[in-house]
Amino acid sequence: MLHALQQITHYSLHLAFPGLIACIFFREDWKKAWFIMLATMLVDLDHLVADPIFDPTRCSIGLHPLHSYYAILVYFLLFFFFKTKTIRILSIGLLFHMFTDYQDCLWMRLSI
Ligand SMILES: [Zn+2]
Repeated sequence: MLHALQQITHYSLHLAFPGLIACIFFREDWKKAWFIMLATMLVDLDHLVADPIFDPTRCSIGLHPLHSYYAILVYFLLFFFFKTKTIRILSIGLLFHMFTDYQDCLWMRLSI
């Protein structure tokens, strides 16, 4: 039951929530904004350098290169140092991706 709830939360935050953010904050370009935020899932390619590549009990944050605290700092700085809308949407998408992965870590602690 807890695992199912975690999965629903995870995929809702990865897929549907960015769409909601796009509709609320980027109303005129919501499709583009949603697409860019969905594209931030490409940072999960850094799992390919981990061994094993996929481990459902592993917390990504702070472990994988593109999920490291340094990377998260860069995603944060992108928002403030680049004034273009596309980069800011990318920054929001990346930070929201990290938030989604982080809440997964909290679910894992809950299920131990
Ligand atoms: Zn991730």
